[in-house]
Amino acid sequence: MEFLDNPVRRYAWGSRTVIAGLQGRPVPSPHPEAELWLGAHPGDPSYLVGDGQEQRRLSLLDELTGDPETRLGSRCAGRWSGRLPFLLKVLAADEPLSLQAHPSAELAEAGYARENDAGIALDDARRNYKDPNHKPELVCALTEFHALTGFREPAATVALLRELAVPELAGHVELLAGQPDERGLRALFSTWITLPQQVLDRLVPAVQEGCVRLLRRADPDPAGHRDVARTVLELSERYPGDAGVLAALLLNRVTLAPGEALYQGDGVLHAYLSGACIELMANSDNVLRGGLTPKHVDVPELLRLLDFGSCRPPIVHGITDGALTRYDTVAEEFRLWRLDWAEANVGDVVSLPDGGPRILLCTSGAAKVSAGSGRSLTLRRGESLWLDATDCEVKAASLDEPAQLFLATDGL
Ligand SMILES: [Zn+2]
Repeated sequence: MEFLDNPVRRYAWGSRTVIAGLQGRPVPSPHPEAELWLGAHPGDPSYLVGDGQEQRRLSLLDELTGDPETRLGSRCAGRWSGRLPFLLKVLAADEPLSLQAHPSAELAEAGYARENDAGIALDDARRNYKDPNHKPELVCALTEFHALTGFREPAATVALLRELAVPELAGHVELLAGQPDERGLRALFSTWITLPQQVLDRLVPAVQEGCVRLLRRADPDPAGHRDVARTVLELSERYPGDAGVLAALLLNRVTLAPGEALYQGDGVLHAYLSGACIELMANSDNVLRGGLTPKHVDVPELLRLLDFGSCRPPIVHGITDGALTRYDTVAEEFRLWRLDWAEANVGDVVSLPDGGPRILLCTSGAAKVSAGSGRSLTLRRGESLWLDATDCEVKAASLDEPAQLFLATDGL
């Protein structure tokens, strides 16, 4: 058991209060802070800084490479070739992130090899595939969290577009109404994302006007169309003339309450809009953007990997047993767990799963964490711990007050 020192990523869409506040630093922070990375990503690994008694500073990535059997355990080290399969993040969005999707493992492997063969450098702005891995991801809300995710059921999208009543969109609405399925969605999305800029420069303002008209109405709105209109207006003000604004009309808009989670599988188009969350993902950087960004958008490659199967938002309901909640997904790379002590169960002892690498992060209160070896330490808000596969019979209990921890393990 060792404390971790974790890198903070500064992106323009980040928050000046969430991560600094979590770590007990002054707020507002001098720069927007978007993500805290807990893991062994080659681009920005965490450091092991001892157990509070002895002080040291070792790259977690180097330590895992040096002794994968002890650190990861033979099962995890064997399955993932000595690499930590997951990356845990605290994500704090004051502004929307880009519209994006992540490739399947097959497409990532092929795309990575193809771009290597073509001699496109890893840091080239046109590079899509930074590694040969897929990137399923799970977000669990810390605050109310807003997102766009997955294509809405086509008939519901037709109803929304008809209510918006944008004359310039009439032909597009009839296209989807005539084929309200996966192929209709693919045809409409492909049309929109390849429109010439001068057409977008007329169409997006027309959609804005439709949204404003809808928001002025006072009649009941059972389908929540006005929430979509509000989001589309916000996005269009930030990204005028961006095809991603139109794409936002096709996606499910979801609001997560704290503790609710959302899973993004291969090829699911999504954009995180605002809020703070814990994010657990496969240790990959493969992102194909679809708009709402000044960065490179590779439309043909995006169209190749997108999943147009209309879907309900992939909300993951945790399975709670006492103070421990487990979030199951199909991803083998990771599993997220939440430990919650309310007034009624302060001090209850929770046993952590054994047998693999684990990262523990305290998001409120404080907890005593003890291992079977007899060692114990106190984990406070904003602090995190690395647990080797050989740290067995680890238990956690809150100290004197309500507390919350998140635990990342592999998903095997
Ligand atoms: Zn994503």
